[in-house]
Amino acid sequence: MKIGNLFNRKRNNEDIVCSVCGEIHKEMPDIGSFAPYHWNDTFNNDPKSLLTEDLCIIEERDYFIRGVIQIPILKSEEYFGWGVWVSQKKENFEVYREKFNDDSIGPFFGWLSTKIDYYNTDTLSLKTKAHFRGNGLRPIIEIGPCEHEIYLQQSNGIPLEQAWNIVHYYKKTSDNTNN
Ligand SMILES: [Zn+2]
Repeated sequence: MKIGNLFNRKRNNEDIVCSVCGEIHKEMPDIGSFAPYHWNDTFNNDPKSLLTEDLCIIEERDYFIRGVIQIPILKSEEYFGWGVWVSQKKENFEVYREKFNDDSIGPFFGWLSTKIDYYNTDTLSLKTKAHFRGNGLRPIIEIGPCEHEIYLQQSNGIPLEQAWNIVHYYKKTSDNTNN
C-alpha cells in the first residue's frame, strides 16, 4: 500500500499562510499510509488477516502496528509527522493490543514497513523502536542510527519550509487521486 494520505491531527493551531502555495492551511497534516507496504486488498477476505487503523495482521504470520516518526521542525516546538507501520514480533504485538493505552510497555523493536517514496533511498527495513505514549496517542517510531536521510532528519530536524514542501509533494498526488 502506497504512502500519501494526509491525516489531520486532532489539535488546534493557528492558521498558517503556506510558504509554498500561499494559501492558508488549517495546520500541517501528517503524511501516512492506511496499511503496511505488505498489505493488499485480498487479505480483506482472509480470516487470518486483520487491518484496523492501528493494527495489522497478515495471515497470522506478520504483525504490524501504526505509529508516527516525528521530524523536529527547526526553530519551533513542532514536529512533522510520518504516519508509518512497523513490524512487531507476535508477543509484543499482543502486549500492545492488550495494553493499548499503557505507556509503561516497550519500547519494542520493529522493521519499518512503510515505503516512503519521498526519499531517494528505500525506507523499508530500517530498524526502529516503538515508544508507547498512552493517552490515545499512537506510538512514536524512532529510527535506529543509520545512514538514511530520514534518520538524519529525525536527529537534526528540518526547516519549516522543507516540511511544507513534503506536504505539497503528497498534496498534489492526493488531489489528483480524488479527481
Ligand atoms: Zn500550501
